Amino acid sequence: MKCPICEKGTLHKGKVHEEMFGVLLGEFPAEICSSCQESFTDSETTARIELSAREKGIWGLGLKTKITRTGNSLAVRIPKKIADFLEFTEGKEAYIHPDAGKLVIEAR
Ligand SMILES: [Zn+2]
Repeated sequence: MKCPICEKGTLHKGKVHEEMFGVLLGEFPAEICSSCQESFTDSETTARIELSAREKGIWGLGLKTKITRTGNSLAVRIPKKIADFLEFTEGKEAYIHPDAGKLVIEAR
């Protein structure tokens, strides 16, 4: 079968390591393109990947938030479930820095 993304390679059976937000979810069967390396999972495997993310407590941690103003600075509200997952608590010292166009907040 031809790859629907690059239309050059052919798909062959293989395994992919799936991760979400830097957490490894496991190794899953997939069809992998011989040219662009894009991988495709069937609906049953996709459901298993979602279940693994739910079991690890990271499902739904990607959320929209708004940047607001506080004095001369800007503030970002961190939703409770992300704060709980990262063990961010009020008053904890954090180190923030940009990384390839993203904002990284480290508090450990
Ligand atoms: Zn391809």
